[in-house]
This record gives sequence, C-alpha cells and structure tokens, in this order.
Amino acid sequence: MKIDILTLFPEMFTNFIDASIIGRAVNKNIVTINCINIRDFSKDKHRRVDDYPFGGGAGMVMSPEPIYNAISSVKSEKSKIIYLTPKGRTYNQHIANNLSLEEHIILLCGHYEGIDNRVVEAYIDDEISIGDYVLTGGEIAAMAVVDSIVRLLPGVLNNQQSFVDDSHFNGLLEYPQYTRPRIFNGMEVPEVLLSGNHEKINKWRKYESLKITYERRPDMIEAKNLDKEQQEMLKDIIKSTMNASVDNNNLENKNKL
Ligand code: SAM
Repeated sequence: MKIDILTLFPEMFTNFIDASIIGRAVNKNIVTINCINIRDFSKDKHRRVDDYPFGGGAGMVMSPEPIYNAISSVKSEKSKIIYLTPKGRTYNQHIANNLSLEEHIILLCGHYEGIDNRVVEAYIDDEISIGDYVLTGGEIAAMAVVDSIVRLLPGVLNNQQSFVDDSHFNGLLEYPQYTRPRIFNGMEVPEVLLSGNHEKINKWRKYESLKITYERRPDMIEAKNLDKEQQEMLKDIIKSTMNASVDNNNLENKNKL
C-alpha cells in the first residue's frame, strides 16, 4: 500500500512514521508513507498558501491552486483522495477495514479555516472526520487514519489474530485482559484464565466481551447479529444485571430505615 499525506507541516509526521508498529511496517516495505509539503506547490514568491475568505469573516482559507498541484503530483487512476474534515463522515473500524484494501490513499490535511471548497467538490473522493470536535489541523486526524489502516495490513502485526479479537473489529468490545503478576495489590486474575482449559477461556472471553458491550455500548449489541450461544449469554447477562440492581435497591432501602 502507498499513502501520501499532503500537509503544511510534514515535520509533524517524522516520529510517527519511524516509530513502533508503523515504523516496522515501513521498514518491511508493507507500506510506503510520503509526506508532501503543500507549500512546495505555491507559485507565490513568498510561498503563501492561504488567503482571506471571500465574503469576510475570521481566519484564513487554504488556496485551491497549491492543493490542486500537490494532489496532481501524486495522483494516479488508483488513488483514493480523502480530505480530513470535521464535516466528513465519522470514522470507524468499518471504514478502516475498507480503506486497508486500497492500493493508494492520498490524505489531505487542512489548516486555518479549512480549504477552498472548489477543491472538495472537484477532487476529493471522501471526507472523513475523526469525531465531533475541531482540531487545529488535519495532521492528527491523518495519523489516526494511517495508524488504524496500517495495523490491518497482512504481516504488520505479529499475530494476525490480535486485531480480529480487538474492540470493534467484530462489532463488540474486547474482553478484559490481564498479565503477570497473578496478584496485584491484593487483586487476583480471574481463576479461569489460569486453568489452561482453552475451551473454558474462550467461553469466558466471549461472555465478558458481550457483557462489557451490553453495559457500555448497547447500540452495538442492537446492531450485531448474535449467534445462538451469544443470545443465551446475553439473556444471562441481562438477568444478572437486573438482579444486581434489585439487590442494590434493597440495600439502599434498608440503609434508609
Ligand atoms: N472551519 C472548519 C469547520 O468549522 O468545519 C474547521 C477548520 S479546522 C480549524 C482546520 C483543519 O483541521 C480542517 O481543515 C481539517 O483538515 C482539520 N480538522 C479539524 N477537525 C477535524 C476533525 N474532527 N476530523 C478531521 N479533521 C479535522
């Protein structure tokens, strides 16, 4: 996969591209990541890339020409051109999974008040937001997108299984994880994880994954097609939650007396 990032601040990506799992993927030639400085495509003698907004108002807008020229310098027939913007569709694992199948992605980072809308209308294939809040620039959003895509590429993670069990990949949140020591500040690791019985461990993880998703993200449970075993587990989880809440009410009433 090839990823080109169009930005006014390429230096922000230096450590990001070299470090950790992304760095390993680059070194193994699984992905090529280039940062292109949009300012290099300005024809202005002061290398200006922005101007005042037509109609007035606060801030500056990124001019269309340098962006168009930067896109043209890397674009091919196979490119998918994405503008990072708070007006875009909200990013999620499903979009990451689909993007990980692309051959060439161009990520355009805006700055200031954003970019001239004619670029968006004519040259952008997709607009992505990483959440309902406003960042100063698209660079952090681009990093989030790159990171989430690259870890899905074959050969990047040591154990391919690890992203299949991760939160969101299969529409649920992940079960709780523990490591050594067995007892930490008086708290013990759940006994079943020490049993060596993989069937029991898998069942426990399936149950805990459903339980945490039910408690924190009931919307995800509603959207998911649960298998027979999960449906039975969910009934049990709902029953235990109701019993726990009755117990709590009884305790509260008792304390009031
Ligand atoms: N005036 C714009 C608006 O209200 O929609 C916000 C511009 S923002 C200060 C500057 C740049 O940061 C945007 O062009 C975009 O590239 C990036 N950005 C800000 N928030 C973002 C978000 N939630 N997701 C993705 N990119 C974002």
